Amino acid sequence: MKNRYNSFKTHKNAGNSRRKLLCLSVAATAALTFTACSSPSELPDLPPLYEDTTVSGSVQTQKPAGGTSDSTEKPGEDAVSPDTSEQTVTVTEKETPFGITYIYDENLYDDERIILREGKNGYTVSTYRIIYENGKEIARELLSQTVTAPEAQEIIVGTKPSVTEKTETVRGEKIPFGTRYEYDATLEAGKTAIRVQGVDGYTESVFRITYYRGEEVSRELVSENTEAPVEQVVVIGTKEKGFYMPFLDASRGGHNYSVTQDFSSSHRGIDFGVWYGDPICAIKGGTVITAYDEGYFSKDNILWTYGTYVVIEHEDGMRSYYAHLKSRTVSVGDKVSGGQIIGYSGNTGRTNPEPTASKPYAGTHLHFEIRVKKNGVYVTTDPKAYLPYWTK
Ligand SMILES: [Zn+2]
Repeated sequence: MKNRYNSFKTHKNAGNSRRKLLCLSVAATAALTFTACSSPSELPDLPPLYEDTTVSGSVQTQKPAGGTSDSTEKPGEDAVSPDTSEQTVTVTEKETPFGITYIYDENLYDDERIILREGKNGYTVSTYRIIYENGKEIARELLSQTVTAPEAQEIIVGTKPSVTEKTETVRGEKIPFGTRYEYDATLEAGKTAIRVQGVDGYTESVFRITYYRGEEVSRELVSENTEAPVEQVVVIGTKEKGFYMPFLDASRGGHNYSVTQDFSSSHRGIDFGVWYGDPICAIKGGTVITAYDEGYFSKDNILWTYGTYVVIEHEDGMRSYYAHLKSRTVSVGDKVSGGQIIGYSGNTGRTNPEPTASKPYAGTHLHFEIRVKKNGVYVTTDPKAYLPYWTK
């Protein structure tokens, strides 16, 4: 029984056994297509399926089903039809290039790129059944087709500028200002004032600085400008305070002098030991009210004790006396200004010692008085309260 059954089965299926095996092989081929790649040398001698077909090693061939037990059999050797064979070919075709998706990131520099995801080309995998007759393709049938879409490459692109420029102004060392002095007759003597405030100069350089990712990489001098200093102007007052010494002292080109007798209750003026013939000057502007030439001492006339002398009346109720002059250069009524020469020193009038023939210059001095009006009367007062030698 057992043998008969087997025998029957074998007999019964004898005509279909090849087809079943063929179907199994096709299924196996389709499964293998995605996992195994044949080398190009295994490609069958096929005409191109499409002009743009991309095979790229993805073609899988299948031997005819009848050759499972004999690898040397060639296509076309089939048990059903010896001249016809079929082959299943799976090919990858119509490759679709992937696109690129850019993702912008303001925290990255513009020359930074990060590939977030690699792109993958899309492709179409087609499986054909190809019928050969005597080794030539006579028909093909599309069995299946799988389309895989491309996957875009994702690239992160920075937008922060990597190269930046900045203009910078750099001020160099200061250039100190100088000072010029001028005289000002309207400013009181001894005083100074700043008429023009000095300003230091400087050199200013403008640089164009280039940064790469925030670090300075180059610096170019664009311009350089020198701002000159402003000279300071100081004025020195020359306006007299109102009184001159009654002679040319050393500061004004004359000789040194000395006080030989000071003002006191018994001596109502100051005696200056000036040189014989030295210029005698008005202590202030005014008008000459006395100019007396009878220079020799006389007990009968007190004025003679002054010898040749000049009295000047000033505008503010003050009179000045210059006695014992050798000679005078002004007359009554003359207007004089402060510092003007009104005569020359001598020893006329009553002096001590008195000049003699052998000592003609003995007793030379200037007796000087200032009288001020008090209650309508001119009275002597200490000249030291007015003269610049003491008041300056
Ligand atoms: Zn005197």
